[in-house]
Amino acid sequence: MKVEDKEQNREEYLKDVDIFVTNRCNSNCIMCPLSETVRRKSDNGRIEEIFQQIKELPENVEYVNVTGGEPTLVGQAFFEIMDKLKMKFQNSGFQLLTNGRSAADFDFLIQLLPHLPYGIRWAIPLHASNAMLHDQITRTKGSFEQTDQGIKNLLMCQQKVEIRIVVSKKNLSDLLNIAKYIVQQYQGVFCVNFIAMEMMGCAAVHKDELWVDYPIVFKKMKSAIDCLISHGIDVQLYNFPLCAVERGYWHIAVKSITDYKIRYMPECDQCKVKDICGGFFYSTKQVMKPSVTPIG
Ligand code: SF4
Repeated sequence: MKVEDKEQNREEYLKDVDIFVTNRCNSNCIMCPLSETVRRKSDNGRIEEIFQQIKELPENVEYVNVTGGEPTLVGQAFFEIMDKLKMKFQNSGFQLLTNGRSAADFDFLIQLLPHLPYGIRWAIPLHASNAMLHDQITRTKGSFEQTDQGIKNLLMCQQKVEIRIVVSKKNLSDLLNIAKYIVQQYQGVFCVNFIAMEMMGCAAVHKDELWVDYPIVFKKMKSAIDCLISHGIDVQLYNFPLCAVERGYWHIAVKSITDYKIRYMPECDQCKVKDICGGFFYSTKQVMKPSVTPIG
């Protein structure tokens, strides 16, 4: 690797930093890109490593992603992590990737709020418009009720909430209902993002139950996208190749895959929009070999 490339990579790293809090999760989503073995592995001692990571990072990080597993599961240590992040990165944007279930506990939420950096965005997956399907996807009874209450509590506390809809064969027919549910129940939501799966871990194990090729997904998603946009809600599409998305929706398709994970199919070399297309996850390309239609 050339020196300038190394410099550029470091620059990109500083733009976007992941604080990986824990493997553990209180849900067990069928399309989780982590394997069940990884999620069950003990990660005691990780907290000190995180403190060290925060200490070693420069202050000029553009965006901090707090992620897991379910980051809030580490209890008091989560408060301490957020305190340290808030103190150190005073000019950074923040995102907390969580299943939102902890926020159903209003006392916990009220205790947590003063520890959070200003303007933090809560990114919370909603898998269905009803408890039965959502809980079937998370494989955790009661998860819909808690996530739903969590989102409502957060909105009541004027928190910035992004709803994430991870699209699979399981919820494909429910997408429009999910959009309608969001419009009716979550007034003040910041945005809604549709996410294509990363086919590794649990997702790869259950690929036959989950996988639908991107063009079919887009056709089903379209009415849900239109419903949200027509109600003034910002929508983005993460991890979708452009050839699967109608041209009129390209402006909401984000190049969202981390650089080192991006791959293209051999046919993509003929495509005129490869430079602006986000491609595929390496794992999705390997496991599913998705079809592409190069744009001429
Ligand atoms: S053909 Fe390849 S580069 Fe072109 S839009 Fe499809 S996935 Fe992207």
